[in-house]
Amino acid sequence: MQTEILYLKGVGPERSRLLKEELNIKTFQDLLHFFPNRYIDRSRFHSINKLPNNNVEVQIKGIITSINYINQKRGKRMVANFQDGTGSMQLVWFRGYQWLRETIRLNQAYVIFGRINWFKGQASIPHPEMELESIFQQGVKVAFYPIYPSSEKLINKGISQRVIQKLLASLLQQKGVEFSETLPNYLLDHFKLISKEKALHQVHYPSSQNLLSRAQMRLKFEEFFYMQLQLILKNHQRKQKIKGHVFAEVGSVFRNFFDNHLPFTLTKAQKRVVKEIRNDLGTGRQMNRLLQGDVGSGKTIVALLSMLITIDNGFQSTLVAPTEILAQQHFHSLEILLKGTGIKFALLTGSSSKKERMVLHEHLESGKLSILVGTHAVFEDKVKFSNLGLAIIDEQHRFGVAQRAKLWKKNNIPPHVLVMTATPIPRTLAMSIYGDLDISVIDTLPPGRKSIKTLHRFDNNRLAVFAFVKEQINLGRQVYIVYPLIQESETFDYKDLMDGYESISRSFPPPNYQISIVHGKMKSKDKSYEMERFINGKTQILVATTVIEVGVNVPNASLMIIESAERFGLSQLHQLRGRVGRGTDQSYCILMSGSKLSEEGKTRLQTMVKSNDGFEIAEVDLRLRGPGNLMGTQQSGILQLKIADLIKDAELLKAARDTAYQIIKNDAGFNNNEHQVIKHTLSKLRFDSNIWNFIS
Ligand code: ADP
Ligand code: MG
Repeated sequence: MQTEILYLKGVGPERSRLLKEELNIKTFQDLLHFFPNRYIDRSRFHSINKLPNNNVEVQIKGIITSINYINQKRGKRMVANFQDGTGSMQLVWFRGYQWLRETIRLNQAYVIFGRINWFKGQASIPHPEMELESIFQQGVKVAFYPIYPSSEKLINKGISQRVIQKLLASLLQQKGVEFSETLPNYLLDHFKLISKEKALHQVHYPSSQNLLSRAQMRLKFEEFFYMQLQLILKNHQRKQKIKGHVFAEVGSVFRNFFDNHLPFTLTKAQKRVVKEIRNDLGTGRQMNRLLQGDVGSGKTIVALLSMLITIDNGFQSTLVAPTEILAQQHFHSLEILLKGTGIKFALLTGSSSKKERMVLHEHLESGKLSILVGTHAVFEDKVKFSNLGLAIIDEQHRFGVAQRAKLWKKNNIPPHVLVMTATPIPRTLAMSIYGDLDISVIDTLPPGRKSIKTLHRFDNNRLAVFAFVKEQINLGRQVYIVYPLIQESETFDYKDLMDGYESISRSFPPPNYQISIVHGKMKSKDKSYEMERFINGKTQILVATTVIEVGVNVPNASLMIIESAERFGLSQLHQLRGRVGRGTDQSYCILMSGSKLSEEGKTRLQTMVKSNDGFEIAEVDLRLRGPGNLMGTQQSGILQLKIADLIKDAELLKAARDTAYQIIKNDAGFNNNEHQVIKHTLSKLRFDSNIWNFIS
């Protein structure tokens, strides 16, 4: 299996180089695991008079009766008249037809295959694959014709689908190539999986739909199984290796707060998560937990309760937010929640003064301070804790790996780490990319929330939208108006924002209306001042860029207007919408857009109008963009699955994960006889363990 592809019959140095460069195929094994991305039923033929009237791929039997050349803007195109007895159509070549012309035989039966192109009621097929019927009949007999991923370069260099298929046929028939089984027999039996050898044959040369499905299922299971096995193994080993502080006590600080200061009853989900965290903190191993909870689901209180347990055990905590505004918000929340508890906490951001810092450093090092809230400023070397026991990181995706790693260096025993995120990542994906973290989910919102009504309006409805803004303000509510700010075109976006601000100022003049404006080009002092005015209800409208995307909490705000909403990604739209609906009033989100929308843009806006569920929205996002483009996952490498699909095969992923989990629980060293095959397979996997370190 590890034999270089160069030595396969029909390859040679040139092809071997191309296969390596274009498809990353280096060995026999790589070629066998180069899977078709789809199949075509080649037992079916279409007739020309009954072609489907969309642009699908079809196979037709017929003859070419004549060939013409038609002048076009640049050069000529070659057009063949093709008939099958029911009608006629055109086959068209725009390039590369000189040599082809010489091989085409008129009035002989061909099987052609290609994608129909409809133009003014006429069907044609550009650049069809074609084969004389006599040769087609001699071809490998398969029910389905595999289509492999390819590239322009490969096609230009003559490595066509046919060539790939032939290489695979010769490899599958070659003597001495061992198809060793990679799964224990009892798993094959339990999940009714076919053998590796059979699966590889069937996936490349399916003899029936049923066997093809079983081959795919077997290979997908295997792929998920080994992916999950490695992730869980890594987590298991980390837990064995990395010691953590033991916070066994739930003491008076926690109790006092819980009994006398908690402003509401915890939701079931919050209780469950606090329990999971308490468990982790007591084990003597470092906690490394991801807390997922939709915007407004109440993560802050969970963070606070975790910090109180830390205090009860004589340690300090830090709560880190990605922006200054958010850090300030957290600080204010703590001011309210911790009033009268005597717990000492402080705020450290980039704009803390020298004097403030001096006092703070001292109190932190002496242990006087129990909680430090801040931005990445807390990662600076000057900032020394007396004994940091817990680091909570809010909105994880804004932080780099390096910053997190710094926390570790501050102590011999690393602090427990809780990463909180409101970016709803579908569970399937979370299990895969964060497989070496434990995951907690807050999946219910606090009671009494009215779901936000979302509307989509075009720019030419702005007057009506402004009338609605007035209505809301007259009811005493506050309004966000958000503009996109996308880095590459910052100047342009900035102009949009300022133009918008001007027109809003004209429609909502003082003294009846007061407006705050916040954007990235402002000094952080000015930003805070403007935010403050909005938070305190002195202004009714906040015009802003996405600075306010995460975390800001103004319960009296009931209307979110998102300008150029088509330019935002789904998860960003959902985050922004989460700024309203935080109080008891009915809240609204209005998505403004131009009248020209791309299909994808339309789907995004429709999804927002239809759904308030972050996880559902994340699934759509994942489908639209593919897992590789989701935030932070590019670096994971893990999503380059060869055959399995994280979304479509979610059930199988779960089965594979559960199985892997059970095996590691019972036999982490793979010492059982039946697990030898796993041990052997794992040792051969090319696995870059570094990629998993990117969370903690
Ligand atoms: P997020 O998860 O987005 O950080 P927050 O922690 O800011 O959410 O909570 C959102 C709002 O819900 C806050 O005003 C908070 O006080 C309130 N809240 C949180 N938990 C509950 C609860 N169990 N019952 C009622 N209100 C709650
Ligand atoms: Mg929050």
